[in-house]
Amino acid sequence: MNRNLAAMVRKNILDLKPYSSARSEFMGDASIYLDANENPFGSPVDDNLNRYPDPLQQKLKEKLATMHGVKPEQIAVGNGSDELIDHIIRIFCRPALDRIMVCPPVFKMYEAAAAINDVAVDQVLLTETFQVDADAVLSKVTGHTRVVFICSPNNPTGGVIPVHDLQKILKGFAGVVVLDEAYIDFSDGGSRISVLHEHPNLIILQTLSKAWGLAGLRVGIAFASEQITEWLLRVKMPYNVNTISQATALKALENECQVQLWKEEVVRERERLRARLGAFDFIEKIFPSQANFLLMRVKNASALYHFLMSKGIVVRNQSTQPLLSDCLRITIGTPAENNQLIDVLNNYTQ
Ligand SMILES: *Cc1c(COP(=O)(O)O)cnc(C)c1O
Repeated sequence: MNRNLAAMVRKNILDLKPYSSARSEFMGDASIYLDANENPFGSPVDDNLNRYPDPLQQKLKEKLATMHGVKPEQIAVGNGSDELIDHIIRIFCRPALDRIMVCPPVFKMYEAAAAINDVAVDQVLLTETFQVDADAVLSKVTGHTRVVFICSPNNPTGGVIPVHDLQKILKGFAGVVVLDEAYIDFSDGGSRISVLHEHPNLIILQTLSKAWGLAGLRVGIAFASEQITEWLLRVKMPYNVNTISQATALKALENECQVQLWKEEVVRERERLRARLGAFDFIEKIFPSQANFLLMRVKNASALYHFLMSKGIVVRNQSTQPLLSDCLRITIGTPAENNQLIDVLNNYTQ
């Protein structure tokens, strides 16, 4: 396909002159900083918080680039991937005119961000086995469809999109494909960052909020072509990732060993929990999962949800999503938490 991505970008974004902050006009090391109206004495708390953060998040991007075998220029960092989702819609979709496509049941944030931007949402449901229907997606995109969102492993169904289905959509669709890999660390297969160079219309999202244990820090990452990351840079607020988040994220990425051990433990617990939950007769089906949660169909989701709640255990009721009647999603906890869950379920009478 002869693809012209720039033609998909909103004109006001193409015309945008990026806001130039004091800290982006001067990037070197100086001995006296009198350019940004900061407090010169310091901050009442930690060191250096009197200074604005690096708007380009250079050190963090360099570390991520080394880890993932891409160039720092192929990375954009957001205040969580939620922010990046919003930015992607803002770049490519004209309000009240363009559309995105999602494949429910899926993470609701894509739709929420579209609604905020007055962008319409088309849906192609997953198949009965929770697979993305690539042919249906391609037949349903219109001239106004700018972005297709695919979540793999999918939240809340836990499945992974086979690479040939992904390739089919990437090749057959003129717009941008966002592959959300928030749960990639828990899956058997690896990230698709390895095929980024073959697909100028691919954006891969990852986050430090799940396996990396930093949901409170708000750091999301986009991997894409330099052309796309340059647009992402234009629309973001200059200081969208604060000093503490940048420094802490960098420190965390240097502590990969601990995270690796947690990932393995979560996967072990996931399969242990699957076996234990499978023994309850009120649990009808536990779906395969490549993520840090289990989706299960039960006899009466609402009753079980409220029972667990009454015992102080909160899970997610997914019953209002298409294809997910009477389904609950349970995040994998610590071994002790999972044991408590099983104990509580042992006392459940329907
Ligand atoms: C949790 C989650 C995210 C992470 O969002 P952050 O804003 O980075 O915390 C992204 N996508 C999916 C599908 C998720 O479930």
